[in-house]
Amino acid sequence: MTLPKEFIENNQDLLGDEAADFLASFQQEAVSAFRTNPLKKAQKSFPQPIPNSLWGHYGKVSGKSIEHVTGLVYSQEPAAQMVAQVAAPQKGMRVLDLAAAPGGKTTHLLSYMDNTGILISNEISKKRSKILVENVERFGASNVVVTNESPQGLAKVFKNYFDLIVLDAPCSGEGMFRKDPDACQYWSGDYPDQCARLQKEILTEAMTMLAPGGRLVYSTCTWSPEENEAVVTWLLETYPDLELLPVEKLNGMVGGIGMPQVARMYPHRFKGEGQFLAHFQDRRPTPSKPQKLKPARSNLTPEQKRLWQDFAKENLLVELSGLLQVFGDQLYCLPEGLPDLAKIKIARNGLHLGTFKKKRFEPAFALGLALASDQVKHSLTLTETDFKTYVSGNTLTVDSNLANGWYQILVEGNGLGFAKLVNGTLKNYFPKGLRFFS
Ligand code: SAM
Repeated sequence: MTLPKEFIENNQDLLGDEAADFLASFQQEAVSAFRTNPLKKAQKSFPQPIPNSLWGHYGKVSGKSIEHVTGLVYSQEPAAQMVAQVAAPQKGMRVLDLAAAPGGKTTHLLSYMDNTGILISNEISKKRSKILVENVERFGASNVVVTNESPQGLAKVFKNYFDLIVLDAPCSGEGMFRKDPDACQYWSGDYPDQCARLQKEILTEAMTMLAPGGRLVYSTCTWSPEENEAVVTWLLETYPDLELLPVEKLNGMVGGIGMPQVARMYPHRFKGEGQFLAHFQDRRPTPSKPQKLKPARSNLTPEQKRLWQDFAKENLLVELSGLLQVFGDQLYCLPEGLPDLAKIKIARNGLHLGTFKKKRFEPAFALGLALASDQVKHSLTLTETDFKTYVSGNTLTVDSNLANGWYQILVEGNGLGFAKLVNGTLKNYFPKGLRFFS
């Protein structure tokens, strides 16, 4: 790989004797890894655990594997896994992932939250927000709303709202050079300064949304000090109530440049790609009376309510907690305690339960991914061969003694949507956009 000349010179100045090892690391392959998903009921053991990590493993998982398609694993390189590990939300928190697509940090945050509290997972790009929705649905969490807003748009609604904000900022991407050599093409000597301006703009909005006493995690996948330590210094000067918390240096992380509390990850020291990470605690006193925001409301017609209840009674063994809302003919379950989101562009309004069709209700693929096998009355387990037939969009023939109706599809114990059985033929409801041949 040919690195930009200015990038090499900058890092020789910054790293001195270490620069040779750092620059040599670009001739080695990028490190692959994944996390397992604790929200899935059927777990499996995997080799090569990442040290000091709850769910991380080195290695590659195919996008066509059962583990990936059922959401049991999420591919994410090891350095990127340290961001949500430091953020480590407690159960019940209100959390914002401000720049979230494709969803690495979001799904990791959801692993800690264990379907409690609220995660707003935001992505400004519409195209990327669709990928984020797919990844969130596959992960199977029920406490997340995916928004497609600018940070400014979100800040109008969520003033002083979040206990924890993660900003994995758009950056010059130097840490991705090995994984994605195209990132090298976008890079120029001025790029870090341009990115730093944008990062400060986004952080200003983040600070409007942080509740007094909350925490902020700021990360980039670049090494330029302009986007890292300089942004942290600016933040501390602009918001004197923020305090920098020390990040524990695990697995070869090092302190920042003249800033020991933050963490830098370099491929010649840490087995992974490039990452920078800073952790802040807000020291403003918590107000005695929480601010009142107009709450989100349910908007189902009595007929829709009845259709959903009939479906739930016939098929589910759990009562879903949350607020039911319809958008057009689509039914969603929002996490409890959200404000009214009418002014926000939504990509996924909580857990997608299904679609109202004239006089009936059809369950969503997302619902069948989120429910555990013991939360559903009727299920059908697919063999590996059946799985391949199903994901390619074909129907399956099953035991004709089974009653007609909806069945959760199970593969290796985890849900893969619902399918309708009609006289021994299992109709295919695997979403068209996700189908593949293996
Ligand atoms: N956190 C993600 C993950 O772990 O999968 C990766 C996020 S990526 C480093 C940064 C994201 O910031 C991109 O998805 C990009 O579309 C988004 N972005 C770009 N400009 C932005 C802006 N002005 N405000 C907020 N987000 C922006």
